[in-house]
Amino acid sequence: MIATLPPSKQPAQRSPAPLSISFEFFPPKTGALETQLWSAFERLAPLQPAFASVTYGAGGSTRDRTHRIVARMRRTSDVEPAAHLTCVDASRAAIQEVIESYLKVGVRHIVALRGDPPAGVGEAYIPHPQGFQTTAELVAAIRRTGDVEVSVSAYPEKHPESRDLDADIDVLAAKIDAGASRAITQFFFDNAHFYRYRDRLAKRGLDIPVVPGILPISNFAQAKRFADACGTDVPAWLAARFEGLEDDPETRRLVAATVVAEQVFDLVANGIGEFHFYTLNRAELVFATCHMLGLRPSARDAAA
Ligand code: FAD
Repeated sequence: MIATLPPSKQPAQRSPAPLSISFEFFPPKTGALETQLWSAFERLAPLQPAFASVTYGAGGSTRDRTHRIVARMRRTSDVEPAAHLTCVDASRAAIQEVIESYLKVGVRHIVALRGDPPAGVGEAYIPHPQGFQTTAELVAAIRRTGDVEVSVSAYPEKHPESRDLDADIDVLAAKIDAGASRAITQFFFDNAHFYRYRDRLAKRGLDIPVVPGILPISNFAQAKRFADACGTDVPAWLAARFEGLEDDPETRRLVAATVVAEQVFDLVANGIGEFHFYTLNRAELVFATCHMLGLRPSARDAAA
């Protein structure tokens, strides 16, 4: 969806940034939670995202559910589905089958990932002996299979397993060389990390779109747990905003909406026009943020 910001929010020195949004969902385990997923999707789809992605569970545990959800998105809406795919615990042949199964139902965008170590985050990652050794190899295999857009991950605060940010950027560069055309970042709360990262990528001449991953905080304790697991900085000012609101969901929601709006407006003021929202299968905060960005539902693109 392309929209422009209200004049008061336009950055003074830059031309109006056209806005493009995308949403990430995960395949839930139960029927009740799946109802929540589709209700969130139906609320958000009319905002005309560039795509909606569906994650792939650890070790392929959601293989069938991910497939079923992207296939239904394709069948019942105008939203472009993007299926995640990881290398964990799978041979090249098994992964090739998954790629082809996505293509068969009309999926033309794959988010290619290595995935977390099967033994758990923090343990050593050991590739499957007949599997892809790196994400770049997976990207190349997808690109060889068909006319598929490939997005990959990026880590403004570096991946926890990376020696340093330069080593992490080397991995991103290899994925771009293999054919990735977009990177979506791990979520971050302090935009300064993203700006520094953007500058480093520019210095390295890496010029594919690097889309900030935005996690609205509907539950601070949960967001902090996610952040600790993936090495995302949680600034003291952010913790202070949510302090004492554990039993006050109404105020928490208002604070959460303000925090995410501040984050995206600051990014917009710094020339960013693309956002990937980690929805956690909830529409409310994401919808409110998109509304404040000037995006409005279009009846034509509503999910069926
Ligand atoms: P890469 O970008 O390939 O590598 C990340 C880092 O790992 C490298 O910088 C390097 O430090 C290290 N590394 C990788 N390969 C090697 C190697 N051969 N030797 C030494 N070090 C190496 N996880 C899921 O399970 N399912 C999902 O659907 C999913 N979706 C995601 C979407 C986004 C946008 C992001 C940011 C993450 C997602 N993840 C998902 C999490 C991701 O799988 C983990 O962060 C994982 O640990 C790294 O996978 P990657 O593709 O980011 O790895």
